[in-house]
Amino acid sequence: MSTQTPRLEIRNITRQFNGRAVVDDVSLSVMPGQVTCLLGPSGCGKSTTLRMIAGVDMQDAGEIYVDGKLVCDTVFRIPPERRSIGMMFQDFALFPHLTVAQNVAFGLKGRAGDHTARVAELLEQVDMDGFADHYPHHLSGGEQQRVALARALAPRPAILLMDEPFSGLDNRLRDEIRDHTLSVLKSAGTAVVLVTHEPEEAMRMADEIALMRNGRVVQSGAPYNIYNAPKDRQAAAFFSDIN
Ligand code: ADP
Ligand code: MG
Repeated sequence: MSTQTPRLEIRNITRQFNGRAVVDDVSLSVMPGQVTCLLGPSGCGKSTTLRMIAGVDMQDAGEIYVDGKLVCDTVFRIPPERRSIGMMFQDFALFPHLTVAQNVAFGLKGRAGDHTARVAELLEQVDMDGFADHYPHHLSGGEQQRVALARALAPRPAILLMDEPFSGLDNRLRDEIRDHTLSVLKSAGTAVVLVTHEPEEAMRMADEIALMRNGRVVQSGAPYNIYNAPKDRQAAAFFSDIN
């Protein structure tokens, strides 16, 4: 039996808008170095779940723990900037007026000291050394994505939340950036919650998939278990376009 504490644990969180539960009694946990994918069709409550983990929205019921420590229930709330949580969203663009190095250093804003060495280390990690003085508009979509990853990892967050981070990229590039991102995250030991509506992306990236529908987790487990033994016809249909 494992005695390891999950990096992230969500217990029974619910969020209602206008009397409707868009996130309904969701629980999940993520171990260090693991990727959990929230997978489901548009509107099923994935982004709302991430926002509550990040602390930019607050649940109506349930608790969130980071490294076994309560960060939020319905009366107590640690603010987003003190949760050791990084974010990478599709529309979380780089600052166009800052160089690559300055963009990455922005992830360390408010921390004392000289960040030159840390920034260089991060750029090397994401294979972008040599681009420090470039501006974002001179980079390809995939390169910008890697810089955004370096920026998100700069403060060494315990948890990284990614909301459809690769949806702006073309197919060929996407496979490459997915694999590369995974290797960076695994070596950093970061626990990741990755939101996607694409089963193929979840199959490729996840250690564990939480399949969502109408605000609820309808099935969770290792990707191939879900793929090979979908719980019901709807779950099977959702995976059916993967080839
Ligand atoms: P997903 O990320 O899976 O596409 P979301 O979490 O963004 O889904 O949204 C889930 C549901 O909650 C949707 O029906 C959406 O319209 C609704 N919703 C999200 N945010 C709000 C809000 N601030 N006010 C009202 N309804 C919202
Ligand atoms: Mg969303």
